[in-house]
Amino acid sequence: MNNFRDDFPLLTRRYHDQALIYFDNAATAPKPAVVINAVNDFYSQHNANVHRGQNFLAQEATDLYENARHEVAKFIGADPKEIIFTAGTTMSLNLVARTWGLANLQRGDVIAVTGAEHHSNLLPWMALRDELGLTLQYLEINDDGTWNEASLQALWAEPKLKLLAITQASNVLGSYYDLKPILAEARARKIITVVDSAQSIVHQPLKVKDLACDFLAFGSHKLFGPSGVGVLYGRSELLTTMPTFLVGGGMIDEVTRDSFTTAEAPDKFEAGTPNIEGAIGLGEACRYLTQITWPVITKRESELSKYFTQALAPLDFVKLLGTSTNRLPLFAMSFTDMHPHDVADLLGERGIITRAGQHCAAPLHDQLKLRATLRASLAFYNTEAEIDTFIIALKEIHQLLNS
Ligand code: PMP
Repeated sequence: MNNFRDDFPLLTRRYHDQALIYFDNAATAPKPAVVINAVNDFYSQHNANVHRGQNFLAQEATDLYENARHEVAKFIGADPKEIIFTAGTTMSLNLVARTWGLANLQRGDVIAVTGAEHHSNLLPWMALRDELGLTLQYLEINDDGTWNEASLQALWAEPKLKLLAITQASNVLGSYYDLKPILAEARARKIITVVDSAQSIVHQPLKVKDLACDFLAFGSHKLFGPSGVGVLYGRSELLTTMPTFLVGGGMIDEVTRDSFTTAEAPDKFEAGTPNIEGAIGLGEACRYLTQITWPVITKRESELSKYFTQALAPLDFVKLLGTSTNRLPLFAMSFTDMHPHDVADLLGERGIITRAGQHCAAPLHDQLKLRATLRASLAFYNTEAEIDTFIIALKEIHQLLNS
C-alpha cells in the first residue's frame, strides 16, 4: 500500500507525546509537501503580480497562475475560461447571487435550496430573497439524508421556480447525492442550477459537463490546497452575459473619466490582485490528487468508511447520523449522555482532532432536534489503526464522563 501519510508534514506533529490523528478533514484538509513547496517557490522565486508588468518575473507569475487555472479546469472537465478564482466556496456562491441573481431574478420569483445546506449556500439566497422579494422554497431532507420525494415533486410543480442551489454532499449527514437526474430535470425546465461541491470535490471524481450544472462552487482548503482561494465554475454562455461582481483593477477593458468597459470572463470577475500563490497551490493540489488517481482514493475511502461504521456500531451510547449508503467518509454523531463539545475537547487532549458544533448547518440540526454533533471526517491517508484509537478513546471518555 502507498504510504500517503509521508506526503503530509502535519501528520508528523505530536501532542503531549502522542501521534496526531487528524479526523477533521471536512473542516480543512492537511496540505501535502508539494502544495506547500509550490506556495514557497512562488514567493522565493517569482513574487510578482499577474497580468500586469512586462518583466520576466511578472510573466512567470502570470504563467504559473494561468497554468493553475488550466489544471483546475482539467480537474473538473471545464474550459479554463469558465474557471473564476475566488476566495472560497462562500465567495463563489455570493458571487452568483450578487451577479446572475440580481440581474435575472425579480419580485415573486421562487428560488430553492435543500434542507441540508451549509450556511454558505443558504444565506446568500436568503439575503437575495429579502432584497428582491423572492420566495425561498426548501427541498426537504428526510432525517437519513435522502431527499423527500413529495417535496421534490412540489418543487417541480412550482411554475415560478428560477434557481435551484443544491449541495452535492451534506457536511453533517455525509450523504453524497447523485445530482444528475435533478440537474437534468431543472435544465429541461430552464431552471438555473448552482451546485455546492465544497465537500464532495475531495471524495469523488466530478466533471461539470457530465453533471450538467450551470454553476459549481468549491474551495481549495478542503481539497488539500491553501486557504483563501476557491473556484466558481460558470457555464460560458452565462458568464459572458452576467454583470460584474467587484470592480477595480485587473477586470477592465477600457476606463475613461466617466465610464468603463470590462474584460471578458473570467478576468472580469477577478478584480484586484488575486490570491496568486493560493491558486498556484490549488493547481498543485489538483495535480497531486490526479496522480494518486480516483479509483485509489475512492477504494481506500470506502474501506475506511466500512471499517469506521462497523467499529462504531457496538457503541450503544453513540447515534450515527445519516445513511450507510452513498456516504462520504464523514461521520457526525450524537451521544445519549455526553455533550459533543466535551468529547471533542477530551479527544483533542489525546491528539485526536474532530469537530463539535452545528458545522454551519443550524437549520438541519434544528430539524434533527440536536443542539450539536461531533464530526469525525476522514480522508484517504487515514488508517484503520487510527480508527481503533478513536474508538478506544470514545469508550474511555464515555466512562470518564459517566463515572
Ligand atoms: N459548503 C459546504 C458543504 C461546506 O462544508 C463548507 C465548508 N465548511 C462551505 C460550503 C464553505 O466553504 P469555504 O470555507 O470554502 O467558504
